[in-house]
Amino acid sequence: MKPLARATKKTMKDRLGEAGFKVRPCDACAKLILDVVTDAGKRQVLDISAPVYALGQSVTKEGVTPLAVRATGVFVSHFATCTDPNRFSGKP
Ligand SMILES: [Zn+2]
Repeated sequence: MKPLARATKKTMKDRLGEAGFKVRPCDACAKLILDVVTDAGKRQVLDISAPVYALGQSVTKEGVTPLAVRATGVFVSHFATCTDPNRFSGKP
């Protein structure tokens, strides 16, 4: 799968639309969300702008330090961030 480059919210919306994804405002909170079908065949709604971090370690000759790095091309379920997630019960 080709990852989408990190971009501003508007640019990311445009890129997602060009890639065939449907971006629309949430009916409950009006944030922009992304309707997708998962590899398990289930419908899901994702935030297009929630920050996501990957955890790792910075290793230097001084030692190892835990480090969080902003991840790109990954998204958070809108169910976890919506102000009214019950609206998505049974229908994403
Ligand atoms: Zn919402």
